[in-house]
Amino acid sequence: MRVGLYPGSFDPITNGHIDIIKRSLAVVNKLIVGIGISATKTPMFSLEQRMAMIESEMGPIAKTMGTELSVTSFEGLLVDVARQQGANLIIRGLRTAADFDYEAQMTSMNRAMAPEIETVFLAASANVGFISSTLIRQIHAMGGDVSPFVPRVVLDNI
Ligand code: ADP
Repeated sequence: MRVGLYPGSFDPITNGHIDIIKRSLAVVNKLIVGIGISATKTPMFSLEQRMAMIESEMGPIAKTMGTELSVTSFEGLLVDVARQQGANLIIRGLRTAADFDYEAQMTSMNRAMAPEIETVFLAASANVGFISSTLIRQIHAMGGDVSPFVPRVVLDNI
């Protein structure tokens, strides 16, 4: 049984996240999307909004694919959350070499702390690999159009 945990801030969910979630749903039996709570960051969307947007966007797709999907929030160590949730895979998306440098160290540390949990990387798809939630927030704050980069449900909540 492959149970994946896909962690992130998803503030907001973008077409890049959707690509990773869809592809993950094809390789795991159950996927948990985990929204990390950061006390230091002021989010664009509340935790509840982020959870609801991911559920409404991805729930029907998961159902079609026959894979269980749950959306949860978490604080604290990722490996602890993975254990609590019964996940044996951590899923991360890789966009750039900078992503890799950061992730490689994190992954080694996570493996040292929890050897039974494997981290799996999915290379970003070319058409959405340049999208980041940070850029979406910045473009939106400056009055730009983010509609090509996020799902409809995000636009409806802006
Ligand atoms: P961001 O880095 O966009 O602020 P998150 O912190 O929510 O978003 O990222 C969660 C995970 O999703 C990370 O593994 C990140 O590399 C991955 N990810 C984010 N955007 C994309 C994208 N456009 N393509 C592939 N993976 C992505």
